[in-house]
Amino acid sequence: MSASSFARESRLDTEIQFLKGVGPRWAPLMGKLGITTVRDLLYTFPFRYEDRRNLPPISEVREGEWTTIRGRIHKVESKPIRGGRVIIKATIADDSGMITLSWFNQPWVKKQLAHYDKDLLAFGMVRRQGWAYEMQSPEIELIEEAEDAADFARIVPVYRLTEGLPQRVIRTAASAALMHFLDQVDEPLPAEFMRRLHLRPLRWSLAQIHAPNDDKTMADARHRLVFEEFFYMQLAVQMRRMQAKQDLGITFPLSSPPEVTAGLFDSGDRAGSLLDEIHKIAPFELTGAQKRVIGEIWADMERPTPMNRLLQGDVGSGKTIVAAAAMLGAVRCGYQAAMMAPTEILAEQHFINLHRYFEPLGLTVTLLTGKTPAAKRKKALQQAANGEANIIVGTHALIADGAKFHNLGLCVIDEQHKFGVLQRAALREKGAATPDVLVMTATPIPRTLTMTVYGDMDLSVIDELPPGRSPISTRHFLPHQRERVYQGIRAEIQNGHQAYVVTPLIEESEKVQAQAAAELFARLKDEIFPDLRVGLLHGQLKSAEKEDVMNAFRRHELDILVCTVVIEVGVDVPNATVMVIEDATRFGLAQLHQLRGRVGRGAAKSFCILVGEPRSDDAHRRIRILTETTDGFRIAEEDLSIRGAGEIAGTRQHGDMDLRLGDLIRDSKLLEQARQAAMTMVAADPELAQPAHQGILARVKQSRLNVATITIS
Ligand code: ADP
Ligand code: MG
Repeated sequence: MSASSFARESRLDTEIQFLKGVGPRWAPLMGKLGITTVRDLLYTFPFRYEDRRNLPPISEVREGEWTTIRGRIHKVESKPIRGGRVIIKATIADDSGMITLSWFNQPWVKKQLAHYDKDLLAFGMVRRQGWAYEMQSPEIELIEEAEDAADFARIVPVYRLTEGLPQRVIRTAASAALMHFLDQVDEPLPAEFMRRLHLRPLRWSLAQIHAPNDDKTMADARHRLVFEEFFYMQLAVQMRRMQAKQDLGITFPLSSPPEVTAGLFDSGDRAGSLLDEIHKIAPFELTGAQKRVIGEIWADMERPTPMNRLLQGDVGSGKTIVAAAAMLGAVRCGYQAAMMAPTEILAEQHFINLHRYFEPLGLTVTLLTGKTPAAKRKKALQQAANGEANIIVGTHALIADGAKFHNLGLCVIDEQHKFGVLQRAALREKGAATPDVLVMTATPIPRTLTMTVYGDMDLSVIDELPPGRSPISTRHFLPHQRERVYQGIRAEIQNGHQAYVVTPLIEESEKVQAQAAAELFARLKDEIFPDLRVGLLHGQLKSAEKEDVMNAFRRHELDILVCTVVIEVGVDVPNATVMVIEDATRFGLAQLHQLRGRVGRGAAKSFCILVGEPRSDDAHRRIRILTETTDGFRIAEEDLSIRGAGEIAGTRQHGDMDLRLGDLIRDSKLLEQARQAAMTMVAADPELAQPAHQGILARVKQSRLNVATITIS
């Protein structure tokens, strides 16, 4: 890029407050949306459009459709309802008819509408209420006089807002940005490249994404911008992959591990000695799938390049023993292994299991979490640093400053959706040579993603559950049927089993959530089950308290554990056979599936009881799917189709990877195209050093997204 063009592009860094209609009044609110410069605004795309070229007359709206209508307010009223809340109802009319708009507990809407006498637009789902039509919680926009007459009879962009920021402000600012700054935008893609891939120019695409002429230009603009987004991400992945091939990894001599005592085992080969040890420590027969993936992992560890592998297996499929096998391999070759878990409870859980497995072999396992008491912590750190600890289990405290390893050879990262990619990279840097990395996840990730986003990770899948599990029976009860649920719990406990009761998901804060749990706990303990042993677990407890409660439940000193979603991942108490989820309709499918996975871990029949009243079609569907199937892949697919790909755990888990437009699932064809194009380009110009590629390189470096992806390993 020439110096002059760089200077020009830097004008895009002009602060947003200098744009027409923004000023110091609105700039801070736009800042809340992450928009501080003109560039930010140009790259803040509308999340939907409103086609105002022909709005339907109100009399022609149809039930079940997302619709925009235009009309005047006829009447606004608020009705108090239970719990001091209100419903606001506004009647809107045009020449053809009337419709009611209603808002639940948003009293400010009334203030906004009470004295408003011009036209307004409302967008929402049309529902039938008795004989009339109604839109519940519609988005509304007041049409002020000055409201650009231009916004009329065209396709209008709708941006995400933050409270207090009118749609009009951001819309005006976006037009101003296009008008005055678009010619500052440089085209990073070479002309020949664009021609070959049928991509429209960047300036044109930005203009059309904010103010489309019609559906076709909007689609073409989006195509270009989504491609570009994927393309930079894929370039980053491919460049990283090239680089990883040059990283020096550890070649674990697993075929003749130096530290397996000679003569103790018959055969000197890996399949013999190490596998024998695993069989010895596992309290069960490994499944075929477990044996297969252990083989894949060991084979990978024997290679000189660093392992970077994703181990995928549904909840309860037995990933822990597989991780143990990988760790044993590292330890027997004279290295340390670390296991990182997303929560303390889970770290503790792994510690207990691994300690049980490895102690008989004379190996030292230590636990290190953020809340390990000072003295213990000091000792654990010492043991990690001097090599006395063979296996270190912990939370992200593991990678916090201060933790040093003697010779870390393998990192296992459990339930990776709780971690950002950057943390992974940080743990890896703790090793001298690049340690191997095994990431475990219970989230089924669609193949397109594993091939593209995970780009440089290899995949092992446990596709078989341990034998003797009877499928979990999942049932749904309405709130007024709770008595029956309690009877069911009691019956299971009389049979010697244990139960979890998960409290409703409350968004406000962990504190409120903890309160709700405490209330439910008190009621169950004092009123419903005064004769049983009931415990309470939530995120606000001190870590020692959490530990005590969890241990008591594990040792069967508690019959019922009342808890918040802190137990969502990984907790393993096979004697627990009942999972009651209160207000289940508030949880997402994937989360319900994870919670359900806490039971059905032993041979006894287990139950998952969903309590709650589904109030929407989606809620009904979620409940139905769960009662129908326990297949994680099917649930993931359904989840995807209900929520849209942007939300699925498998993609969101890249906390740092915020795609602005592209949808990894729906745009998978484009993703694949971008991948191919990126591979071709990196093969020809591995460092993107050619002059024609400078604009591209700058953007690969620039975008946060790629910084994160580059460090995936
Ligand atoms: P997850 O994949 O969810 O992490 P775990 O490793 O916690 O699963 O295993 C779930 C339960 O199944 C544990 O109680 C574990 O001891 C048991 N388990 C694992 N593998 C087998 C097997 N091959 N046979 C019987 N039980 C097994
Ligand atoms: Mg697990």
